[in-house]
Amino acid sequence: MVGRLRSLLTLSAIIVTASSAATPICRDVSGNGTGWPSDVVGSVVDSSDPKFSTQSARWSSYEAPTFSQVFAPEDEEQLSIGNGVLITMENFNYTKINDDLTATVGAGSTFNDVVQVVGAAGREMTVGSCPCVGATGAYLGGGVGRLQGLHGLSSDGVRKIRMALWNGTIIETTDSVNPDLFWGMRGAGQNFGFVIETTFATYPQTNGGNNYESQLTFNISSLGTVVDTVNSLLPLDPKLAIVTIVGADATTLETLVLVNLVYAGTTEEGRGYSNLFSNYSISNIETTLTYAELPTKSAGGFNNIKCIKGHRQDQYGVSMKTIDKNSFIAMAQEYTDLIQANPLLNASAFLVETFGVQAIDDLGDDYSAFPHRGRINNFLEINVSFDDDSVADAGDAWGKRWRDNFSEPDVSGYNSTVVYQNYGHGDEMLSTLYGADAWRHERLTALKQSYDPQGVFNAYHAVPRSIERWS
Ligand SMILES: Cc1cc2nc3c(=O)[nH]c(=O)nc-3n(C[C@H](O)[C@H](O)[C@H](O)COP(=O)(O)OP(=O)(O)OC[C@H]3O[C@@H](n4cnc5c(N)ncnc54)[C@H](O)[C@@H]3O)c2cc1C
Repeated sequence: MVGRLRSLLTLSAIIVTASSAATPICRDVSGNGTGWPSDVVGSVVDSSDPKFSTQSARWSSYEAPTFSQVFAPEDEEQLSIGNGVLITMENFNYTKINDDLTATVGAGSTFNDVVQVVGAAGREMTVGSCPCVGATGAYLGGGVGRLQGLHGLSSDGVRKIRMALWNGTIIETTDSVNPDLFWGMRGAGQNFGFVIETTFATYPQTNGGNNYESQLTFNISSLGTVVDTVNSLLPLDPKLAIVTIVGADATTLETLVLVNLVYAGTTEEGRGYSNLFSNYSISNIETTLTYAELPTKSAGGFNNIKCIKGHRQDQYGVSMKTIDKNSFIAMAQEYTDLIQANPLLNASAFLVETFGVQAIDDLGDDYSAFPHRGRINNFLEINVSFDDDSVADAGDAWGKRWRDNFSEPDVSGYNSTVVYQNYGHGDEMLSTLYGADAWRHERLTALKQSYDPQGVFNAYHAVPRSIERWS
């Protein structure tokens, strides 16, 4: 098997190319004229196949790579990866509850797939807010979500990873088997191999899995009071999750302010928090959602809309100790001006995720490669969304300017810029994404040298193979 996987890897540069010139740089050794070994060629589709468009569709078409072929391995024997290969893991969509109540999750599973099975077993674990996000892709960078204050990051709950290395070898890693790799996989995990499946700890459902939700709307004039209220709740109750959203009405272009508040507890307890907002809100819709319903039904289904594929999505993100009220109001004013002047940007929005951090911060700074413990009180996420490229520059300039503003220590409250890599833009320094400590750089680079000596897994925030190349 290893021999065949090696040859797959060697061939990858021929068979899958970005949109630019498709110049073969490797010799076709398949013997069947396709570039693929004959026993996997049936799992490869190109643009003439009806499955190609769904299998290659990406959430964002903004500056996205394009592919001429997609490989959908049917089992781990067929699995390997190479620079430029788009591998869809749709055939690895499974979640199993084990006898010890851990959950084993195939790399093709989304957050929504996971919560259906984990929730049905009366258990819970930290997942992100959006149903469509890959549970594996998210935890490799950390994995933030509403229950993180109780159970830590998604990656903090990882107990075992089964993965393919660059040479096709399949290994497992835990805190006692290849422990250094296990450390790196949780926070920088897209750098060292291809994950096949992951086993997570699960926990008894809080409040029987019932969550209080309050969906509040406000006039823009109340934005400063909303910010004051959110800041007054820091550090957040670990059962509480607040998302503050500034967006636009697509028809009137009026700027809207929404707060989504979810409390993993009783309605009475949750109301203790929503009452702090509802006395000056325009509307307040309260409901109870189960753990499994949260990704698809919270915020009135807003997250399903966020999941629609194919739009241009230009993202910026930065972490903040508190929300700087004056900057936030000024950003909202500029947002209003931007949307009025460029109605084609009306699907753009910015939001702040304010989640509990206790279970994350309880773990030591070196618990995993996730470098931001103690520095993620609030995530600012700026989403410039459009379909017409004529507004791309205006939207990007606005997003970048405000990301840079909130990165300033006197605005963010942190002494250096903190960006959760999965919310980054791609222009950040590596030390911003992976931490500035020299020991982190040395440890990550040593792992890269050991587990990815040829830089096969360099597609996303590549850890450098030499210390000098850290930025
Ligand atoms: C709408 C939306 C909502 C989001 N909400 C959250 C949230 O609530 N919490 C959160 O933490 N993040 C969230 N994110 C960010 C998300 O974690 C990252 O975008 C992540 O990279 C998505 O992973 P994916 O597998 O879905 O995407 P992909 O594009 O498939 O994967 C991203 C990268 O991860 C790596 N990767 C993926 N699978 C594997 C694998 N099996 N083995 C090795 N490497 C792999 C690859 O380098 C790949 O390029 C959100 C993103 C979006 C678009």
